[in-house]
Amino acid sequence: MNADRVLADLRELARLTGGPDGARRVCWTDEWAAARQFLRSRLDELPVEIEIDEAGNLWAGLEGEQDGFVIVGSHIDSVPAGGWLDGALGELSALEALRSQAEQGKPPVGLRLVDWADEEGARFGRSLFGSSACAGTLDVGEVRDLTDRDGERLEEVVARYDVELERVHESGSRLRGARAYLELHIEQGPVLESRGEPAAAVLGTFGVERHLAVFTGQTAHAGATPMELRRDTFMATSQAALAIREVGIRHQGVCTVGRASSEPGVVTAVPGRTEMLLDQRHLDPDALAAMLAEARKACEQAAAAHGCEVELRYLWSIPPIPFDDRLIALARQSVVDSGGKDTAIPSGPLHDAAEMARLLPTVMIFSSSSPPVSHTKEEDTPEGDLRVAIAAYGRTVAGALELAAAGDLPPRE
Ligand SMILES: [Zn+2]
Repeated sequence: MNADRVLADLRELARLTGGPDGARRVCWTDEWAAARQFLRSRLDELPVEIEIDEAGNLWAGLEGEQDGFVIVGSHIDSVPAGGWLDGALGELSALEALRSQAEQGKPPVGLRLVDWADEEGARFGRSLFGSSACAGTLDVGEVRDLTDRDGERLEEVVARYDVELERVHESGSRLRGARAYLELHIEQGPVLESRGEPAAAVLGTFGVERHLAVFTGQTAHAGATPMELRRDTFMATSQAALAIREVGIRHQGVCTVGRASSEPGVVTAVPGRTEMLLDQRHLDPDALAAMLAEARKACEQAAAAHGCEVELRYLWSIPPIPFDDRLIALARQSVVDSGGKDTAIPSGPLHDAAEMARLLPTVMIFSSSSPPVSHTKEEDTPEGDLRVAIAAYGRTVAGALELAAAGDLPPRE
């Protein structure tokens, strides 16, 4: 892998589809099409056929000595004022994997690039559109009537890009013969930066549990009601939130109270009702279940301590999706061989790789994020860290091709 070419492509893409406010590659827009055109122009220099599937995903592959293929890819789309690396780093590194492989001749098994359509869900609020369609987990009925800010329906907008909703699951046929999926991405968080590490293997994506806790007590006059006679739901919620923080720390997961709002919400009343939004994430399903059970108990204890009641309402959940142990080991070694440390961390954000991991041996590599933010123009990674991550990705691709040729990653039927 030639990191100089990846960095040059990233800068050229940022010049074409970025600006003072950041990247502008929202999927299903002209600027996304321009970003795709740039990717196609680079692919046109290689001995590959380019194809758009039924879900709008772009594929381009090199034939190998043996049947089947390893998939490399990410997404070229971005949020409306996004960073220059989110998605683009992985996509243009996948391009470089193809380019460097083509220069060396026929790979031992095929190597296929994918650019997933609408990873971000920035226009309609549904992330992982193309990869979930390919994996068969996209519920077409659920997305058909989603509308954007201007009231345009998803079904009509994607049709302009030749995507027929009824047929998006046919995209899954592209996985026949697939042996593994490998993706490079920026971390989008502070873990690697805080440890001074340039890159890491990724263990999998967190499972998520989202609930709304509704505390009910008694609204009462703030002057007339002595402290010991109150049924104050805000106090109960506060006590629960502090206990839930400890739950996250105890299990080494993450627990977030994203919002708490009280009624009647005036300075002269003890709040008789408070709603609290709770998000919990962990890589281990048992730990995630334990965190939820302990959060429920913390809410009940806090409610009882303040003479209130509480009800936990289910909002949304997704199980943890672990990556492949052999590929994690390969990615860890690749990071070490490229100048990084022997580390593997879980991913808090979801990625297209999580959809592929349901069906194929999968692994990701993260580069550091510094400053540790994403979905903003401030998103960045030191060039030295990018070079380590790109080299580690190249080694992982080469290692996976070898494993596949040795029969360790059989082609999917
Ligand atoms: Zn991304």
